[in-house]
This record gives sequence, structure tokens and C-alpha cells, in this order.
Amino acid sequence: MGEHFADVEKNIPEACKWYEKAANQEHVESQFLLGFYYRFGDVGFPADIEKGRQWYMKAAKKGHVRAQRRLGDLYRNENNYAEAVKWYNKAVIKRDKLAMFHLAILHEAPPDYSFPGCDIDIAVSLYEELSTPSFNYKAAMVSLGLLYCDGEKVSRNEIEGKKLLEMALFPNGKLEIDDSLDIYDIWLAGAVYCTGRTNTNSEPNLDDLNKGIELLDIVIADGFQGYPPDRLELVKRMRNFSDDRRKTCFRPASNATENNDDFIISGFCRSCLNKKVNSRDSVEDIIRSSLKMADNGNGFGAFFGLQGVLATLKEDGCPACTGIVEGVSDELSKLIKK
Ligand SMILES: [Zn+2]
Repeated sequence: MGEHFADVEKNIPEACKWYEKAANQEHVESQFLLGFYYRFGDVGFPADIEKGRQWYMKAAKKGHVRAQRRLGDLYRNENNYAEAVKWYNKAVIKRDKLAMFHLAILHEAPPDYSFPGCDIDIAVSLYEELSTPSFNYKAAMVSLGLLYCDGEKVSRNEIEGKKLLEMALFPNGKLEIDDSLDIYDIWLAGAVYCTGRTNTNSEPNLDDLNKGIELLDIVIADGFQGYPPDRLELVKRMRNFSDDRRKTCFRPASNATENNDDFIISGFCRSCLNKKVNSRDSVEDIIRSSLKMADNGNGFGAFFGLQGVLATLKEDGCPACTGIVEGVSDELSKLIKK
């Protein structure tokens, strides 16, 4: 198909005519390609979702596997999960890797995706199969590893979870990221390593902490937009901490997750958190209210709140905690200037 493409692009109107003709003559691969070109508006075809759907449908009904999966994607994007699942299932019977993965995600994540017959066990068994050497699909290993380490949707099994994460992210003991993994997976895995969820006792060990920070470094370098920059700035600061400091930074998973302010708070030492900024509020109080303001889009409020914390810590705090607040308020001031 690759060599074909060069010719196609040189002579677009001719190619369009040829595909339409072949597709109309019931040539299944051409029907699929027409569906794809109309769906995305490619090689000279105007984007037209309904035409894309019609051609996918023709090819899918004749058993074309990629057409079945793409049709599933189309319905999924329209939040029609029952219809998406119907078409994914047809491609899954033929063990199409991406259809298996996309179907597993739908089964994993109600209420975001919910449909009759939605079942976490189906998600687990699809992820398991995709993790076997015959598929060796790293995105599935990470998804399943996170499920086991989190222990919310399936019973927690940190040993199995960690094994899967290591297989996907640290084969041969060294970090290796392949392109099946998106930045969001890497962020989640980093947070799981940092907060002790890869360990039976829920305490991060130094080896896991360092792995977590290595993963989160990738997230920072990528400029990932899905998470507030003040939080990523915190991680960036932690990278420079000594081993001892790292160990005290992260609290057990039970009171520090990547999704709440406790994760930020856990970066500070208790002595600094307890210091008073004014007669009523401690450093911890002000940091929490500033994070809330930042989340609500009040960058100014957050910035000025943190200036009070900064003044207090500069006078009487430890250098590590002062560094965190400096970094976070630098990031906030950049945002305010935008
Ligand atoms: Zn401190």
C-alpha cells in the first residue's frame, strides 16, 4: 500500500475516480479505503462522515476487519457505545489487536462508557490476551497493570500489576517507551510508582520512586497539557531532591493519589506545613486554598496566596519546601502573564 500511495497523491482526481469505480463494483478493500478517505477527508476526498460510514458499513458487512473496527471507532466517538461494541466484537472474533484494545477500554470504564453487558471481566481478559507474547501490546499491559495496582475496579494485586508495568515500561530493567503508549498512560504509571501502589505495603521504595520520576520526566518534557502545570512543576522539583528527601516526599497511597491535592501536600515536610502564615492559616491551609483557586481558574488568587507562603518559608522554612513554592509560583506567574 505504501508504494501505491505515492502514485495516488500525484494523481488525485484519477485515483478518486478509480476508487469509486472499484468500490461500486463491490471491491471490498476499495470500499474500506473510500470509507477511510471520506471519514477523514484524505487524498482529495472531502471529509464527509456519513459517506465514510456508508462505505465502512458496506465493507464491514462483508467481513472486512479494519472496516468493522473503524466503524466501531466512529460510533464510539459519537457516544453510541452499544453500536460501537457490536462492530468491535465482530473484529475481535478475528483477533484484531486494536479492536480488542478499544473494546477493553469500553468495558473498563463505566460510567464514562456504559452499555448493556458492560463487564470489567471482559476488559481484563482482553488486556490479558493482548499482554501475551503473541500480541506483546504494551498499552494493554499498562492498562491492566494500573487496574491491578489501583485495586478499585478489580481486587488489588500489586505483584501482578507491577510485573505488567515493568514488562511494558522497563523491559530489561531500563525505561523503554514504545508508540502504543500515550502520555496519559505514562503519567498514570508514574504516579502509581511514586505513591507506593506498586508495593504490597503501599510504601514507595527508592527504586520505584526513581522509576516513577523517570516516567513523570517524560510527561514534563512532552509538555503534557492534561494536568495542571503547577503540579508538574512540583514533580520537576522532586527530581532534584536527594534520595532521603524523595523517600519522605511521597506518602502511602492511602492518603496521596495523583488526583488530589494531597499529592502536592505530600511533597512538603510536616514542619513547614504547620508553620503559620497569619494568625489563622497555616502553610498547609494556604497551599490547599491556592490549589483550589488555581483549579477554578483564579490564577491571581493562587499566585498571591502562595506569595504569603513563600515569605513565611523563606524566613523560617527548609530549602526544599521553599523551592517547591518558588517553582509553583513561577509557573503560575507565567500563566497569569499569558
Ligand atoms: Zn520543609
